[in-house]
Amino acid sequence: MLSDKEVAAFKGWLTKRGAIVDPPTNVWEVLRVRTCFGPFVVYQNKAGRQTWPDELVEILNSYKAKQDVALSPDLKSKVKLRHLIDDLVARDGPWCWFCEVGFLSPDSAAITIEHLVPKAHGGPNHPSNLVLACRECNGEAGSKSVSEKVAMRDLKRGFVCEQAEKRHASV
Ligand SMILES: [Zn+2]
Repeated sequence: MLSDKEVAAFKGWLTKRGAIVDPPTNVWEVLRVRTCFGPFVVYQNKAGRQTWPDELVEILNSYKAKQDVALSPDLKSKVKLRHLIDDLVARDGPWCWFCEVGFLSPDSAAITIEHLVPKAHGGPNHPSNLVLACRECNGEAGSKSVSEKVAMRDLKRGFVCEQAEKRHASV
């Protein structure tokens, strides 16, 4: 249970550590904040009793213990993205799925994640629908269908040319 003044000080500390404090949406909210551990709301009833989510109490304990913690909600998506890229590299290798140009580093800004079935067409954010692509190929793939993307990949990797050459050689 914190006084208004203590809540204000806690809000200041949260903001400094990257959390986003949002304005209350009703009179019963004492604190509304988004962090990398999720969004939290503290409520206060008519009797002045506050309800704190357990995880926010842990963050409050870090504040009281003067621990330095990073709380930006962006951290969560970055960590998730990092895991996703690692999974795709483990499955397909560290290069563009279309042209097979190698990525020097998995942290490279050149890496993009391509949805085989576009999100706009209900393609899920699941690895089965995702491949790594360089910026150029990602741009080129644009709104192509899955079969057009596979054809684009085959063309880029030279599969089509090799087959054509083989046919040519066998004539
Ligand atoms: Zn590429």
